[in-house]
Amino acid sequence: MHSDVLIVGAGSAGCVLAVALSRDPHCHVAVAEAGPGPSDPAVVDQIGNGTALPIGPRSSVVRRYETTLTERPARSASIMRGAVVGGSGAVNGGYFVRGLATDFDGWGIPGWSWADVLPHFLDVETDLDFTGPLHGSAGPMRIRRVTEFETGAAAFIDAARDHGYPWVDDLNGDAPGRAGVGAVPLNIDAGRRLGPGEAFLGPAADRPNLAVHPHTRALRIAFAGHRAIGVDCVGARGRQRLTADRVVLAAGAIGSAHLLMLSGIGPAGLLSAAGVPVLADLPVGTRSVDHPEWVLPVDWPAAPGHPPLEALLTTATGLEIRCYTTGFGAMIGGDHDPADRPHLGVTLMRPHSRGTVTLASADPDVAPLIRHRYDDDARDVELLAAGAELAHDLAGSGYHARESNWSTSQHLCGTVPMGEDGQAPLDERCRVRGLEGLWVVDGSILPAITSRGPHATIVMIGHRAAEFIR
Ligand SMILES: Cc1cc2nc3c(=O)[nH]c(=O)nc-3n(C[C@H](O)[C@H](O)[C@H](O)COP(=O)(O)OP(=O)(O)OC[C@H]3O[C@@H](n4cnc5c(N)ncnc54)[C@H](O)[C@@H]3O)c2cc1C
Repeated sequence: MHSDVLIVGAGSAGCVLAVALSRDPHCHVAVAEAGPGPSDPAVVDQIGNGTALPIGPRSSVVRRYETTLTERPARSASIMRGAVVGGSGAVNGGYFVRGLATDFDGWGIPGWSWADVLPHFLDVETDLDFTGPLHGSAGPMRIRRVTEFETGAAAFIDAARDHGYPWVDDLNGDAPGRAGVGAVPLNIDAGRRLGPGEAFLGPAADRPNLAVHPHTRALRIAFAGHRAIGVDCVGARGRQRLTADRVVLAAGAIGSAHLLMLSGIGPAGLLSAAGVPVLADLPVGTRSVDHPEWVLPVDWPAAPGHPPLEALLTTATGLEIRCYTTGFGAMIGGDHDPADRPHLGVTLMRPHSRGTVTLASADPDVAPLIRHRYDDDARDVELLAAGAELAHDLAGSGYHARESNWSTSQHLCGTVPMGEDGQAPLDERCRVRGLEGLWVVDGSILPAITSRGPHATIVMIGHRAAEFIR
């Protein structure tokens, strides 16, 4: 099977890219997705419920990976990635907040300034609450904010205002990085999550030039010399090669880095140690980044049936304090457990620490080694500790927060970043350096993590990068 463009991964960026490219009826686009598609009603039930994250033990739409969050002591954790048409955007918390203008301008990468990316942010969304030059009105992602907060969120907002934090009307507005408390822009409306799979691919499903292949997992990229010519996959029909003029990896921060390394693109010494012949010696997986989060259970009443996160506080020091509406068990759709408390999350949005994603074996079935190294930089730990103190104060009058635990926001990014030659595997047009016909378009490409959750930014990236591949 041959196409003009083959995209590996129908996740948050891959869906958007596939739809943008296949708008040209002469461009034949194929998408290989490891997970199931929406024709399965059990999949639709799991990903459509915006009041829970379908990542618990019964989930059929995620892949789990082991990581160590910290080194001293080693704290192991299980992290998840969506493995379904829609990707992690089909299983996430629905928080859809853009990165800040200072994030994009700070990258200093041609074509990625705030002025360059804003039109793409506008094109992907319809904001149901706000209009004006900073809001889209015709894009597939429908964005809504809660106006009547559940008990814990209301107490948290009152406490934040009592501590002098102003109310921020619009976290996607003209002063989004300002310290203050506000309602989270969500791609959840009336309890339903509308992720990028449904929002983008759904209306384009009948295009004759767009073919999405669920249950099709790429094992390695196929090359003729230094030109990518396709991908070797395993799927319902066993092993097959999908060929294309242009190959785009959109398999997410773990999946895209893993595929590159399995195909000989990565740090030469580590690839050789794993028995993989080196095609291009590039720094893949050497400086990953994620938002570290400390969680503090709080004794306010749980409110299942609400979006997991209705409101958050931003501090001047680059922390987000998030008040989750239920305990983690309820959030992932577990059975009722009175010991499962709602919690506050203290999240560092501009961490200094960097982690690694390393090839463990030449066998594609063996997951890469992931280390978050959240305690790598003492400045991060100090900021988190100060945030935890503030969170105790903000638990709300009459309520009490317990001791904090290390956790993660599940925002792993930056495993295959764009940047300068010699320092980054991708150029500013998402092309893999030293090779032809190969791009990466997903959360891997971020040169630094955004000061907000990455989802809105990654959806924007799918739209932006279509201009480079078209
Ligand atoms: C539980 C959870 C909650 C989160 N909550 C939020 C939130 O509320 N707000 C926010 O901003 N961010 C959130 N995030 C992060 C955000 O959702 C992700 O960063 C974003 O969706 C990643 O997009 P992506 O396109 O890079 O990859 P993904 O959306 O993960 O897509 C990658 C796709 O590639 C497929 N794939 C992988 N390997 C292969 C292969 N070898 N062959 C074929 N297909 C493959 C996967 O199955 C997947 O569908 C959350 C993440 C998780 C996991």
